[in-house]
Amino acid sequence: MARIVMKFGGTSVADLDRIKNVARRVKAEMDQGNEVAVVVSAMSGVTNQLVGYCQSLSPLFDAREYDAVVATGEQVTAGLTAIALQELGQDARSWQGWQVAVETDGEHGKARIESIDGEELIERMKIGQVPVMAGFQGIGPDNRVTTLGRGGSDTSAVALAAALKADRCDIYTDVDGVYTTDPRIVPNARKLSKITYEEMLELASVGAKVLQTRSVELAMKERVRVQVLSSFADIPGTMVVDEEEVLEKEIVAGIAYSRDEAKVTVRRVPDRPGIAAAVFVPLSEANINVDMIVQNVSADGTTDMTFTVGKTDMARALKTLEQAKADIGFSEIISDSNVAKLSVVGVGMRSHAGVASTMFKTLADRNINIQAITTSEIKVSVLVGGEYTELAVRALHTAYGLDA
Ligand code: ADP
Ligand code: ASP
Ligand code: MG
Repeated sequence: MARIVMKFGGTSVADLDRIKNVARRVKAEMDQGNEVAVVVSAMSGVTNQLVGYCQSLSPLFDAREYDAVVATGEQVTAGLTAIALQELGQDARSWQGWQVAVETDGEHGKARIESIDGEELIERMKIGQVPVMAGFQGIGPDNRVTTLGRGGSDTSAVALAAALKADRCDIYTDVDGVYTTDPRIVPNARKLSKITYEEMLELASVGAKVLQTRSVELAMKERVRVQVLSSFADIPGTMVVDEEEVLEKEIVAGIAYSRDEAKVTVRRVPDRPGIAAAVFVPLSEANINVDMIVQNVSADGTTDMTFTVGKTDMARALKTLEQAKADIGFSEIISDSNVAKLSVVGVGMRSHAGVASTMFKTLADRNINIQAITTSEIKVSVLVGGEYTELAVRALHTAYGLDA
C-alpha cells in the first residue's frame, strides 16, 4: 500500500468526460489498496479567461481581487471531481485552500506556501475517503485567498505530498513525460525516463512549463518523488530523481524557451558608481524580478542598460522607472516584448566545455542575432527576436544531438 498524491492539470479536467476519466484513474489507484489525495487545476482555458477579465477592467488590477477571481477555477473542478468520484461509488470530499489550510505569505498573485496542515486529510484518507484539493490557491496572513502564480497547482501537489508524507506525487498532464524540449514545437523531441531535480529546476525556471519552478524546488528540498505522466495513456512517465540515479548523463539534458519576458532598455544613463542600484533597487522594491542584464560600454560618459522582466510586470516596470527618472537620469526608455529566451540545460556542462560556443555558432549559422546572454553552472541562456523561437529551438535540438 502506498500513499499517493495525484495532480491533474487543466487539459486533464477540460470537460466532464475528462473529469470522469480522472475519477476512474483515481478509483483504480484506490482499488489497488492505496491511499490517494487529489489536486486539481482549473479546466483548461478558464484561468486565462479569468485573468483576462481582471486585465480588461484594470491593467494595474488589485492583486487581492485578482486572487479572489482566479482562484474560482480550481474550486469548480475540485467539487466536480468529488462528485464524479462519488458517482463511481468512491467516497470523496473537495477542499478549498483555506479549508485545509494551505497557509501562504501575503504576495497576492504569486504567493509562497508556508505550511499545510495535513492532519484532517490524513484522517479522511485512513477511512477510505479521497480528499480532492483545489490547487493553485491558499490563504494569506490577511485571511484572504491567495494564488501561487501561473502553473501553481504543481506546487500545491508537491507541498501536499510533503505534508501528507506521500510516497509519490504523480503529476498527470497532456504529455507523457518530460522531453528534451517542448514536444509541441519539436515533434522529434525525446522523452526522458529520468531527469535530475537540478536539471528539471533549471528547465522549469527558464520556461519549460511542464512543471512550475517552485514545485521542483520544493520537491528537491522535501525529497518528494515526482513523476510526470499522461492522464490519457497508460505508460510510465518521467521520474525526477537525484543525480546519482541517472546513469548515462548527457551534456545537454534539454532545451527550453520562454516568451514570457520583455526587454527594457534604459538609454543614456550616466556611467557612474551606483547607477545599477539606482535602476534596479526601485524595481526590486516594486517586487519586479529582473532576469538578464546587459550594460553597454560607455562612450561619452553615458551608457545603455538593457534587461528583461516578466511581460506581466512590464507596465509596472516602466511606470516605476519613470517615477525614478530624477534619480537615475536617463534620456528615454525603450521596451520590446517580441523577444524569446532560449536556454540549454545539463549537469554535464560542469565538466564539458563548448556548450555555449555550439549555441552561438548554431544561431549565427541561421543569422539569428543574440541580444543578451546569461549563464549558470548548468545553463546557458540567450535572448533573441521572438519570431525566431521555433527555428532556433529546432536548430539547437539538432545541434546538441537530441533529436529522436
Ligand atoms: P497542465 O495543464 O497539465 O499543468 P501544462 O500546459 O502546464 O499542463 O504543462 C504541459 C505542457 O508543457 C505540455 O503540453 C508541453 O507543451 C509543455 N512543455 C514545455 N516543455 C516541455 C518539456 N521539456 N517536456 C514536456 N512538456 C513540455
Ligand atoms: N489554473 C492555474 C493556471 O492556469 C494553475 C495551474 O493550472 O497549475 O495557472
Ligand atoms: Mg501546468
